Amino acid sequence: MTSRFEKLIQEASFPPLVERYFSKQVSPELMSPSRMAKFQEEAVKEVISRAYENSPFYHKKMVEAGVAPQDIKSLGDLEKVPFTTKDELRQDPWARLACDKKEICLIHVSTGTTGGKEIYTPHTWKEYYLNHSIIYPSLTPVKREDLCFVALPYEMSQSGLNFHNMFIVGHQAASVPAGKGGAYSTSEKTIKLMRKLQPNFIATSPSYAMNLAEAAAEASFDLKSLHLKKMWVVGEGCSNAFRKRLEKIWGTTVNSNYGSTESGFISRECDVHDGQHITQAHVLVEIVDPQTGNVLKPGETGEIVLTCMLRFDTPLIRYRTNDLGYIDKKPCRCGVLLPRLYMKGRATDHISIKGKSYSPYYMEEFLMQQPEVGNWYQFHVKHGDNDRLTIHAEPATGVEASPELAQKLAEKFEAKSGVPCEFHFEGAGKMLRPGTKALRVIYE
Ligand SMILES: [Zn+2]
Repeated sequence: MTSRFEKLIQEASFPPLVERYFSKQVSPELMSPSRMAKFQEEAVKEVISRAYENSPFYHKKMVEAGVAPQDIKSLGDLEKVPFTTKDELRQDPWARLACDKKEICLIHVSTGTTGGKEIYTPHTWKEYYLNHSIIYPSLTPVKREDLCFVALPYEMSQSGLNFHNMFIVGHQAASVPAGKGGAYSTSEKTIKLMRKLQPNFIATSPSYAMNLAEAAAEASFDLKSLHLKKMWVVGEGCSNAFRKRLEKIWGTTVNSNYGSTESGFISRECDVHDGQHITQAHVLVEIVDPQTGNVLKPGETGEIVLTCMLRFDTPLIRYRTNDLGYIDKKPCRCGVLLPRLYMKGRATDHISIKGKSYSPYYMEEFLMQQPEVGNWYQFHVKHGDNDRLTIHAEPATGVEASPELAQKLAEKFEAKSGVPCEFHFEGAGKMLRPGTKALRVIYE
């Protein structure tokens, strides 16, 4: 009798479609756009036809919308298929399965940071393995001999495990599950381990990278001595100015990543730092008008909608993320041929003051460009007859906080952004260092 492990290995044979397009010679990031479109067209047809046949949830949706798999003849026909919303996914964890429930090997749960009930994301072993086997070596240049630290949460959501498995399954490198403030994980301990193990790559969140930097300074450990090849940050938006601060402290290039628990990886930044390349072997991104649902053209900002290309057993079709962005198809200087996604944040994250909406990362960009401002800040918003914004921030090391300096920064902020505000300095080290997602905007 074969062991469970041997059985799993046998079952891991890739679908013919994947074998055909992703042989070892051609990595998805260097595939011509026309060939990538051909792959996505075939994948969409396969995902939709399997969902129609085997998933009661998608079958019902498609019947109600009067669309059947034979109506999907090209990628443009995808818009005939109805959207999948977060609320629909919240209802029944198993409804969208296009496979037997007993095939499920892993279930991720949404973090709930955006509110509402949990969303469950089941995976079959075969698909999970497949999703981590296809890699983008220019965007993620990890070699077998490399050691990677994953300082991200491993519980519930996909973030830690997804990087971890990309490193060990896709790149066959070594990974240290450092975690991020869980039961066994503190920033002090992670720094101790880094000193001992000397990693080449780190995946973490922007705010936790700053937590770790403080723990390193406390332990008199110069992070530049690690000579890291790269750091990826994920889970929170990161302005260019904040990224540059991290790069200076860590002595390496810092690239952002965008992903979601429901879909896995979506896009990844290259070293040019001008948009994130869409990981098109894994996901098809559409930009739609949030009100009408109509598909928008490249360059037009709208809601990001995802269809997973390699999820045939647990399909995710035209999933509305509530995130905003636009796509640029122009070639990138880095040579990667995948189009780029520009994130505009989540509509609900925007700060609304006097009827105008502002991205917190635009505001972070301003703050982090000011040498007098430290690495920790919060925006406090009070709505009323006269909306009020107060910026709380720590001074940078060696800077003496004074009411005059606070006044000067408030005026500079208003001149730059058009938003009147008050500026308050907090004592150095006095602002909360969150173990979870950094809370940048507080409504009073
Ligand atoms: Zn690029």
